[in-house]
Amino acid sequence: MEIRLVQGDITEQDVDAVVNAANSSLLGGGGVDGAIHRRGGPEILQECRALRASHYGAGLPTGQAVATTAGRLPARWVIHTVGPVHSAAEDRSELLASCYRESLRVADELGAATVAFPAISTGIYGWPMDDGARIALSTVRRASTSVVEVRFVLFDAAAHAAFERSLG
Ligand code: ADP
Repeated sequence: MEIRLVQGDITEQDVDAVVNAANSSLLGGGGVDGAIHRRGGPEILQECRALRASHYGAGLPTGQAVATTAGRLPARWVIHTVGPVHSAAEDRSELLASCYRESLRVADELGAATVAFPAISTGIYGWPMDDGARIALSTVRRASTSVVEVRFVLFDAAAHAAFERSLG
């Protein structure tokens, strides 16, 4: 598997699947989630509502992932995953790692060869960027998956630098 780091906007990525840092409601939010629904159009939200009604009445649990189509985005699918809110009192690293693993598992089910990830939980959910980068890269490196390219799409130069440092 090839791991690529790019600075940019995840909604512009020409990949099979983009991963959304969603919240458990699946009904949209700020950050990456807001950008994906804005750029992707109402079709994604419609599918999210249907998934809620059929499977996730109580919300998508933290660390899990589920796919919809990608509406007007260049990608074919959006994989929605719910990152943990960072906590100083409790180590939630395993839940963050689970987001990356579960997203790749869903990508395999879809037959997606190229997948773009944002730095899950490092925005509104408050995860320190260096630690978020370390968990993202170590988890993806160790994953057993048929995905051939994982592209981390970092929104700003500081996030890109943190991932560069962690990639080594
Ligand atoms: P979370 O709630 O999981 O923290 P956010 O969407 O708030 O999710 O932030 C996750 C990361 O994505 C942050 O580092 C944020 O700067 C970044 N980000 C925000 N918008 C975009 C975008 N359009 N493309 C890529 N990354 C983005």
